[in-house]
Amino acid sequence: MAAQSRSLPAVVLSGGVGGARFAWGMARVLPAEALTIIVNVADDLELFGLYISPDVDTVCYTLADLEDPERGWGRADETWHAMETVARLGGPTWFRLGDRDLGLHLERTRRMAQGEPLSRITQDFCRRLGVAPKVLPVTDDPVRTIVDTVEHGPLPFQEYFVRYRTEPQVRGFRFVGIEQARPAAGVLEALQHAAIVLIAPSNPWVSVDPILAVPGVRAALQGKTVVAVSPIIGGRTVKGPAAKMFRELGLEPSALSVARHYADLLSGFVIDTEDASLAPRIQAEVGVPVLVTETLMQPKPRREQVARSVWEFAVALYEVVSPASSAHGPLGEG
Ligand code: GDP
Ligand code: CA
Repeated sequence: MAAQSRSLPAVVLSGGVGGARFAWGMARVLPAEALTIIVNVADDLELFGLYISPDVDTVCYTLADLEDPERGWGRADETWHAMETVARLGGPTWFRLGDRDLGLHLERTRRMAQGEPLSRITQDFCRRLGVAPKVLPVTDDPVRTIVDTVEHGPLPFQEYFVRYRTEPQVRGFRFVGIEQARPAAGVLEALQHAAIVLIAPSNPWVSVDPILAVPGVRAALQGKTVVAVSPIIGGRTVKGPAAKMFRELGLEPSALSVARHYADLLSGFVIDTEDASLAPRIQAEVGVPVLVTETLMQPKPRREQVARSVWEFAVALYEVVSPASSAHGPLGEG
């Protein structure tokens, strides 16, 4: 592939673990200045007076190679002394915060209390942690996912996810505050500047939808080459409740359902080799080219291979619609 097309500006829309692993791969495919990762914040919560942003933190820790490889959240080599003290004193321990992780929440909360926006603090933390691509929370305004459940009624996302371990049956989702949310500084600029937007293999319902629902974001995708990667492989999720959510909402958990979910946005769709038999149906029904490839991002080096296949597919689609792409020039200065 031409070196030029390799540095086309790109945006990745990301949740936590699936998005972070994909972003890690993309960071090895593109030069840092060509890559922006826009991250969900509707999972955020306040606990012990601390501001916690689980998806942003997973992305930053993963890109900095600080993440715990097993858990899918938090840091490696973690200790839990602070939590042990909380437990001994009778405090809430359902949402676990490791000692190393706590330091970040302390410092972020201190800066936010002085009026600094989450997006600026995130970029500064990333720089200090050695993360080169730009990581942007989609908004600095409060947006909170409420999961409507059969057993417990409406639950704040982390109560559903952590306290009730995703066991309650889902009826639907609401993103409280979304109508008033403004894209964080740099979000619309990154999308406007991007040649290609990649929707990571993140949870469509609770990771990607609350990014797309921030006013202005969906509109900014119009006319872009948009490629999504299915987080569902063989009807199952690699991690998390996405497949269970599809079932409980009356939809078959499959790569086809994911493609339908994003249909109006897509220029192309990526599915796992295990789902190869679905490709003709997706192509016919959703009307976009389908790449069938290995999409499992474990072990770690697989992340780069997955990202590279997705990128080459997206660049080929981009070049079809923008044959004068050479005029775009590297990083869009053309
Ligand atoms: P969360 O915010 O931590 O729940 O993370 P995301 O929403 O970013 O990612 C969750 C989704 O990532 C799940 O639906 C998983 O199936 C998907 N996922 C995780 N690892 C992989 C992988 O290696 N390949 C693919 N295709 N999907 C993955
Ligand atoms: Ca999340």
